[in-house]
Parts: sequence; C-alpha cells; structure tokens
Amino acid sequence: TGTLFVVATPIGNLKDITLRAIETLKACQWVACEDTRHSQRLFQEYGIKTKTLALHQHNENHSSQQIISLLQNGENVALVSDAGTPLISDPGYPLVQLAHENNITVSPIPGPSALIALLSAAAINTQPFVFHGFLPPKKQQRLHFYQSLLPLNSTHVFYESSHRIADSIQQLAHVLGENTTLVMGRELTKRFEHIFRGTAAELVTLIENDPNQQKGEFVIALQGIKQANSDQLSLPQQKLAVELNQHL
Ligand code: SAM
Repeated sequence: TGTLFVVATPIGNLKDITLRAIETLKACQWVACEDTRHSQRLFQEYGIKTKTLALHQHNENHSSQQIISLLQNGENVALVSDAGTPLISDPGYPLVQLAHENNITVSPIPGPSALIALLSAAAINTQPFVFHGFLPPKKQQRLHFYQSLLPLNSTHVFYESSHRIADSIQQLAHVLGENTTLVMGRELTKRFEHIFRGTAAELVTLIENDPNQQKGEFVIALQGIKQANSDQLSLPQQKLAVELNQHL
C-alpha cells in the first residue's frame, strides 16, 4: 500500500514551505486538495505537476473512500488544504481516520499553522493552551463561548473572521474583562502583517479607530490568569489567581 502524506503549506507567504513538502508533493502520484484551483498557485511557483483531486467539506466522505482505494493500489497521496496545516480547522479528518482504520501509513510533513505562528511570537503562556478553531458565528453562541472560558485558567487560541472581528472583540472585553491580556495576529506572514499585544480595551479602541484593522485574517490568543500580572486582573480573577498560586 501507499503512504498518505499530510503536508502543511503556507499561510500567506509562499516561501513558507519546507523542502520536504515540495519534494513530497512532486513525488506523490496524487495531491488531494481542499481547492485544486487555489493550490495551483503554489504548485506553479514550485513546478509541481502532480495530478490533483478535490477533497473538501462537501465531498469529504465520498472522496476519502476513493483516496483510500488509490492508497490500497499502492499509490502515494499527499493531502493539502488551502492554507497551513490540514485538519487544523480544515478538511481531512475522515480521510486520515479511514487511513488509520485501513492500516495505511500516515506521515505528517509539518510546517506553518496560524495558531502556532501566533503563539511563537505572542509571549503568552503556552502551557497549557486550548485551541478552539473558529468562534461561533452567532452573537448569543459567542456569548456562551466566552462565558465558558471563565475563569481563564489556561491560554485560549481561536480564529475569527473579518466580518465579526469588531463585534467579537467588544463582546470579549465585556464578558472576560477589559483588562484581559490578549494577542491578535492579523495577516501573519503577509504584506500587512500586524501583531497587537495588550488589553482587550486597548484592542477595542484600536479596531474602532482604524477600519483597516478589521481587514484580513485573524488569530487571537488570550492569556490565562495563572501567569498574568495580578494587578491587571479583575477582583474575582485576582482571588482565583491567589488560590492558584498557592498550589504552585
Ligand atoms: N489550517 C490553517 C492553519 O493551520 O492555520 C487554518 C485554516 S482556517 C480555514 C483559516 C483561518 O485561519 C483564517 O480565517 C484565520 O482565522 C486563520 N489564519 C489563516 N492564515 C492566517 C494568517 N496568515 N494570519 C492570521 N490568521 C490566519
């Protein structure tokens, strides 16, 4: 049987791809793409001429079965998504699961992911951190989501869309407190890359005053209170931080 390679691709800057990723994409018989046209840009840049097939949200189960047959026939298949690491808020889960169930070797070719890129440059505690993927699109669900993070005793990382970023940060400041320390990465690795680090209140002001700050792709990390400067905390949070520190 063949091997299923799970290949990370750039999150913006096309140069963020590993040598092994390029070699693997060239050497496989097939590349399963979230969007074959989107991936062509990358493939053209690096002279990758491998045959492609589509594996996206809407055909995942059917397409995964077909890919398993190819692997069982001895062909090597690479899986890529539109950006970053497959299966991280991206398609691929059913395929990788089926591969394991069929004793097919699955091999990761690691590389970019927006959440890890942000954490590497955020200077907030990463042990532990919880990754939530995309926030719920509806206001009420988002409210419940933010409430569920209290009392913020670990770092939380999530993706948010440009349509909702302003509302979402306002809501965050309201529910979790204006002094919550957070880091927002916008357009990482791209021309208008910007990393904001500060309080929720400061970020609300920044976004309100500069509409450009609402454009592009966003990843946000919230600092857990265990590691936070205690005078930045609200009273109930301070109390909890004291309790936590007693256990350190
Ligand atoms: N698989 C990708 C990864 O490994 O990061 C994530 C795919 S998910 C469909 C796309 C979301 O990730 C975007 O809406 C944004 O929230 C975040 N994202 C992707 N690229 C980004 C970038 N360059 N800067 C900031 N956030 C990014």
